[in-house]
Amino acid sequence: MNLYLHIPFCASRCSYCDFYTQTGSRLRRDFINALIRELHLRRGELPDGAFIEHIYFGGGTPSLLTPDELTRIFATITSLYPLTGSGEVTIECNPDDVTADYAQALGTLPINRVSMGVQSFHSDDLSFLNRRHSAEQVFSAVEALRHQGIDNLSLDLIYGLPGQTEERWLANIRTFLSLSVPHLSAYHLIYEEGTALTRLVERGKVHPVSEDDSLRFFELLISELKTAGYEHYEISNFALPNRYARHNTGYWQGVPYLGLGPSAHSFDGVRTRSHNVASLARYTKALLDGKRDYETEYLSDEELQHEYILTRLRTQWGIPLADYTARFGEHATSLLLQAAKEHLNRDQLTYSENTLRLTPSGIFVSDGIIADLFQ
Ligand code: SF4
Repeated sequence: MNLYLHIPFCASRCSYCDFYTQTGSRLRRDFINALIRELHLRRGELPDGAFIEHIYFGGGTPSLLTPDELTRIFATITSLYPLTGSGEVTIECNPDDVTADYAQALGTLPINRVSMGVQSFHSDDLSFLNRRHSAEQVFSAVEALRHQGIDNLSLDLIYGLPGQTEERWLANIRTFLSLSVPHLSAYHLIYEEGTALTRLVERGKVHPVSEDDSLRFFELLISELKTAGYEHYEISNFALPNRYARHNTGYWQGVPYLGLGPSAHSFDGVRTRSHNVASLARYTKALLDGKRDYETEYLSDEELQHEYILTRLRTQWGIPLADYTARFGEHATSLLLQAAKEHLNRDQLTYSENTLRLTPSGIFVSDGIIADLFQ
């Protein structure tokens, strides 16, 4: 089982972001107390004999937590939960938070992986996205972390920014490669409802890139990373051999996880999913009153099947049909193969070793293929 902790604070709001996070720190102290309380309350959800393998601090901006706050959270986790001791312990950081002192503090904690939201190495992109760091701060953060022995690093980049050219995207990819970081998550810019960026598009002040440009940027990304020895192991993720994001890979493989913090989701690995209330005030109040504010849903067979197809096909490991049959039956497998036929003929899917996988050309139209396989 894995553990996810959602830290819902950011120093400022990025123009494209719709995550559950707050820029004020009014409830900060109460939040830490509430999170500790939730760790206590939910200990019983860990099945007998189970261990926590990977731990992930996401957000928001977990690097806004002080070393003392992190120490307190870790002390609670280790006193309550049995850990395998061999898992990944990741914290998402904003590059400008990772000073030499902060990196040193991280080095004294059980953290062994850092994921940083870089998004671009061009300063005008960073101000357009309302990011608060500079490219130089990324370089010094990487150096400071390595100096503390934390070299299992991942960076995030965003492409498809309005007006982006191939040269500028290529420059970002090459700067990433020059850092020799073992993992990259690269996402196309998405115009989420209600964000500052989407309002600019609605007012005609910003023009999204064309689909053709998006496709070229994605192709460029894949070919540059592949040439540099990275595996394209999930639609948006690339890693040097065996440097996959292990906690996130758990999501794509149906591994159960406990999600703590406001808006965090949990999954029992079978069919029960729950999510904490997406309100810091309600989350904190409930826990400080000794309760939890959350909702539970039970996935139907059809939802489980869809979830399985969606998550497995996104990865290079694909849909293993023996496992699919064991879970959903022979009839479901023959329907799946029937729906896959057209895409197999078009060379968008492959079927080998009793596994269905996306081909390189299928990756570009994966949403449509996945929707067809749901039929
Ligand atoms: S730092 Fe991350 S979570 Fe916070 S506003 Fe920016 S994108 Fe959203």
